[in-house]
Amino acid sequence: MTSKDDRDAWLAKAKTLSDALPYMRRYFGETFVVKYGGHAMGDPELAKLFARDVILLKQVGINPIVVHGGGPQIGAMLERLRIKSSFVDGLRVTDQETVEIVEMVLSGSINKQIVAEINHAGGRALGLSGKDGNLIRARKVRRTSRKTDSNIEKILDLGFVGEPTRVDSSILEPFEKTDIIPVIAPIGIGAKGETFNINADTAAGAIAAAVGATRLLLLTDVDGVLDKKDKLIPEMTVKTARARMDDGTVHGGMIPKIETCISAVKKGVDAAVILDGRLPHVLLLEIFTEHGVGTLIRAE
Ligand code: ADP
Ligand code: MG
Repeated sequence: MTSKDDRDAWLAKAKTLSDALPYMRRYFGETFVVKYGGHAMGDPELAKLFARDVILLKQVGINPIVVHGGGPQIGAMLERLRIKSSFVDGLRVTDQETVEIVEMVLSGSINKQIVAEINHAGGRALGLSGKDGNLIRARKVRRTSRKTDSNIEKILDLGFVGEPTRVDSSILEPFEKTDIIPVIAPIGIGAKGETFNINADTAAGAIAAAVGATRLLLLTDVDGVLDKKDKLIPEMTVKTARARMDDGTVHGGMIPKIETCISAVKKGVDAAVILDGRLPHVLLLEIFTEHGVGTLIRAE
């Protein structure tokens, strides 16, 4: 015998599935690029749920492309090896010794962990770095800094920090026709064969633009973009996003995220969303329900 409460709970589950139908129909055959954040990756339980969610996307006919970060894991390895490291505007200053560790951790350790997690949960994932098939060509990032009280610009040397110059989408297109989920480490290859450390948000944005993705979803370790009173900003146009960078509301690791979202929507991605990767099933909530979570950035 089942109680009325049990039955009500079952019916609610069935309704949730049924309510997802319009979203499944809308996004069938579309490509979603998901950046799985360094800080959002730490929890093993969340990692299992993330793997299942990505498999579910693929199962209902969406083409997920996963791009991952690894900031905290790289930081931990550098510490173990007693290599000092610093950040400028959310980007890690990367010398020759550091870039070797960055590649080892990203494309060796983390990439394979995520691939294994998806495969263990019943999906089929294939790991790539931006070097494979020359997927991500990159050049050195040039940054300047200007003190607020002076007009003198200082050139900052971030070492082997790269920005994508070309993403070869032909490497990724065949996956649309298979059950294989690509998982990409944000490493780029330079014109002289150098290895570049690319911010994972930046890499995800460049990939989203190159494959003509419908959505770019950046999972991180905060609710979304917060205003000066730490309240979540649910939606921003490109114009307001720029203003929030200029007035200093957005700083540190949030800078490459916002820059990425702006450039992705300007290049035709329908919308870019910054989401809290600490929320279980945040991808399903965002994609298959009317409850938008996080901060959505659109052209206007
Ligand atoms: P990830 O590993 O996900 O890329 P980052 O540390 O690089 O994470 O970037 C996210 C961080 O950006 C947040 O944890 C927060 O400290 C910082 N941040 C700066 N400005 C903001 C803002 N306006 N709203 C939310 N987070 C912000
Ligand atoms: Mg970051």
